[in-house]
Amino acid sequence: MLEIRDLHVELAEQDKAILKGLSLDVGAGEVHAIMGPNGSGKSTLAYVLSGRPGYEVMSGSATLDGTDLLDLDPEDRAAAGLFLAFQYPVEIPGVGNMTFLRTALNAQRKARGEAELSSADFLKLVREHAKDLKIDAEMLKRPVNVGFSGGEKKRNEILQMAMLAPRMCILDETDSGLDVDAMKLVADGVNSLRSPERGFLLITHYQRLLNHIQPDVVHIMADGRIVKSGGPELAIEVENNGYADILAEVA
Ligand code: ADP
Ligand code: MG
Ligand code: MG
Repeated sequence: MLEIRDLHVELAEQDKAILKGLSLDVGAGEVHAIMGPNGSGKSTLAYVLSGRPGYEVMSGSATLDGTDLLDLDPEDRAAAGLFLAFQYPVEIPGVGNMTFLRTALNAQRKARGEAELSSADFLKLVREHAKDLKIDAEMLKRPVNVGFSGGEKKRNEILQMAMLAPRMCILDETDSGLDVDAMKLVADGVNSLRSPERGFLLITHYQRLLNHIQPDVVHIMADGRIVKSGGPELAIEVENNGYADILAEVA
């Protein structure tokens, strides 16, 4: 489903290589975790996949269901089924949460050549998902994320994910700085959205999120590439011993 091949990426301004031959395959229905020391390039990977400016792809490829992601505008990447959740969800003053969701959903449908949802169908869909996430009508009307608590922002992000029904969800350190309850909320949201048609890439510095979301594969990233892959036991090894042993072993 998501296929990344020998990806080399530089910071556009500085000719500084960040990703140095990264390859990764996430199959439908799979949850992969990427762990790695600070500065290893985890966020850069998420940013490059999302189409954020400032990075230059030197060589390699990234495809989703065979579609070349790197050639697409960010909104077309979303239409292709990519969803990214970041550590700090953006606040959008003046734009109601419902309006935002409806605009995002209809933009996705339009890019796919599908008709807009009717108001009634949209309302039905949003109410259904909001109820599951215990998001009340008042929170749906408020400006996107403005004044939301950490936990509310995370619930809102899961709501966006549920509404857009992506093929591939990438969460970059979305658990950082959350208390245990908010982290469990994220984990429950991800677990409820796991499906045979959907893949997840969980980028996390710490193992604790993986106590609540059982990954199929754990990858260790260092200096711009994946240096080791394994099962959930790899995350526990990192938690117990840090990265030093693994990095020495692969050096
Ligand atoms: P991680 O998410 O694994 O901590 P990052 O992708 O954030 O790693 O960073 C990888 C490397 O790229 C680091 O050395 C970081 O300092 C550098 N880097 C990333 N973005 C920028 C930027 N905009 N300007 C300068 N250096 C950057
Ligand atoms: Mg970092
Ligand atoms: Mg990061």
